[in-house]
Amino acid sequence: MAALTRLLLVGPPGVGKGTQAKRIADSLRVPHISTGDILRDAVKRATPVGLKAKEFMDSGGLVPDEVMIGIIEERFAAGDCAKGYILDGFPRTTPQAEALERLLERLKLPIEAAIQLDCSDAVVVERITGRRSCSNKACQATYHVEFLPPKNAGKCDRCSSPLEQRTDDALDAVKKRLEKFHRETSRILPYYEARKLLLVVDGKGTPDQVFAGIRRIAGF
Ligand code: ADP
Ligand code: ADP
Ligand code: ZN
Repeated sequence: MAALTRLLLVGPPGVGKGTQAKRIADSLRVPHISTGDILRDAVKRATPVGLKAKEFMDSGGLVPDEVMIGIIEERFAAGDCAKGYILDGFPRTTPQAEALERLLERLKLPIEAAIQLDCSDAVVVERITGRRSCSNKACQATYHVEFLPPKNAGKCDRCSSPLEQRTDDALDAVKKRLEKFHRETSRILPYYEARKLLLVVDGKGTPDQVFAGIRRIAGF
């Protein structure tokens, strides 16, 4: 089987989508498209989209579909996805999934697999509350205080910039985001299942074990 290279990752906040998406992108040499990263960059730069998105993000809510669909259309217009792409954090609602399907049909780059990372809420909460991210936007390395600590506490291994905790990774916002996932985002799973595109990977193991599961299922 030829490797699947037009992929999306779906799973609860903190399950390890970003961690795995970076590895997949490096391995397949395709762009990693993270709508969370795009939004955080827009917030930092205080663009119109950023100003609109900030309050939804901080409170653990979802940014409105029309804003998100605009962002993803603009991202694909960069034209660097002919060899594949890994979508991380998009789509999160059924209207987003439908808009994405239309866009990718138009571009002749349809999804080949929707990979679901499956994990219990308890594990996800542990992962997300311990997450620390490099404050240097160009670096974006992610750590975990317990499971993936940096060599020097509070400092990035790669670029020595200070690490920070995302404002939406505090417990209250995390609970709300998890609830949103179960109530809303999980509905896109049957959408992809009906199209025979859904592949489930166990997200509970170490990052290496999860990555091995993805490679096995996507054939690379
Ligand atoms: P995580 O990886 O922890 O699930 P992300 O970094 O993907 O979080 O996203 C952070 C926040 O950005 C989300 O909680 C949400 O507010 C917003 N966001 C990102 N992608 C989307 C999307 N596709 N639809 C709506 N909101 C989004
Ligand atoms: P998501 O993008 O789904 O929100 P991340 O990739 O940012 O998730 O991972 C959330 C946190 O959990 C990070 O601190 C990361 O270092 C850690 N992490 C990721 N995958 C694993 C894993 N398989 N086992 C333990 N911790 C992990
Ligand atoms: Zn760094």
